[in-house]
Amino acid sequence: MKRKRVVVLGATGSIGESALKVAHDIPERMEVVGVAANSNAAKLAAAANKTRAKAVCLVDESKMSILQKHLEYKPKIFSGERGLREIAQLDDADMVLIAIVGTGGLHPALDAIEAGKDLAVASKEILVMAGEAVTEAAQKRDVKILPVDSEHNAIFQCLDGRQSEVRRIILTASGGPFRKTPAKEFVDLTVEQALKHPTWNMGPKITIDSATLFNKGLEMIEAHWLFGVEMKRVEVVIHPQSIVHSMVEFADGSTLAQMSYSDMCFPIQYAVTWPERVPNSLPPLDFSTLGKLEFELPRFDDFPALNLARAAGEAGGTMPAVMNAANEVAVAAFLDRQVRFPSIWETVAAIMGRHQTVAHPDLDDILRADQWAREEARRFIGK
Ligand code: MG
Repeated sequence: MKRKRVVVLGATGSIGESALKVAHDIPERMEVVGVAANSNAAKLAAAANKTRAKAVCLVDESKMSILQKHLEYKPKIFSGERGLREIAQLDDADMVLIAIVGTGGLHPALDAIEAGKDLAVASKEILVMAGEAVTEAAQKRDVKILPVDSEHNAIFQCLDGRQSEVRRIILTASGGPFRKTPAKEFVDLTVEQALKHPTWNMGPKITIDSATLFNKGLEMIEAHWLFGVEMKRVEVVIHPQSIVHSMVEFADGSTLAQMSYSDMCFPIQYAVTWPERVPNSLPPLDFSTLGKLEFELPRFDDFPALNLARAAGEAGGTMPAVMNAANEVAVAAFLDRQVRFPSIWETVAAIMGRHQTVAHPDLDDILRADQWAREEARRFIGK
């Protein structure tokens, strides 16, 4: 099996960092040939220096001199949104890992598919907003979409190509920091409390999404598109230890689960080396210290994100993009201490309620709906 040449979009974020670790751990199987980041120029230069990637892209052109100053060799340089689309089509690459927060990864993802690159998807927005367009494009160009989100990677491992026999997909959720918090206390929860995730170490947006369970809601829609499974077959169970990363129940009643410690290096490596497994330096589970694995139903009434996501996924079209955009605006407002914790789902519910869904949207329809939802959400919060 030859070494996979990977472009990492979002090289300075937490997924990007893990991807570089994997490349360092299994150099005979993974080579980073391109790195891109939004604005952290010094950290991008460090990532480039470490990997000696042939191509580097910085989206924020105003920070170009910082990048240049820190680079210790002469890679091919791209810049701006256009540069991101160019590096996604890099000649030498086999795979593009999309780990950019927000909508910025959408165009590059479709460009990479168009250029015949396999896609490793860590950014939920790609499949939540444009699941139909992206999966169709991938089918047409015969490229693979490999999930890097830990839950979807787990499902991908369990399925092993047996889609038609699936009865249920069971996404596990840690439950976040407020799993046991009474709903009446939600209004007083602080940003600091919400940022304390019990089992995963991630960026602030996704950590808040884990506290509201919108992260799991987005993942329900992601699973629906990735695995071609109807929304009603996608379920969520709370599993506080984050050891079982998700499960698939098959037609015969057997359920397969994937387990490992919560470290994004596991799913990233599997996406890169699939369909093979190769040794690495990651610690396997130690059952002598693991203790109990618990499972419980989510508190659907107290965490409305799950039902909102189910409704958005069932409505389809532009509705998931609207849910995602309204949530992004509300989370940003919460992080800025402009709104209280429950305002996040109140905002999302209100904006979804006002949206006229466009069926089978193209990328322009999706981005228009995204813009509309952001403006509506800002207005709603401003009141
Ligand atoms: Mg996840």
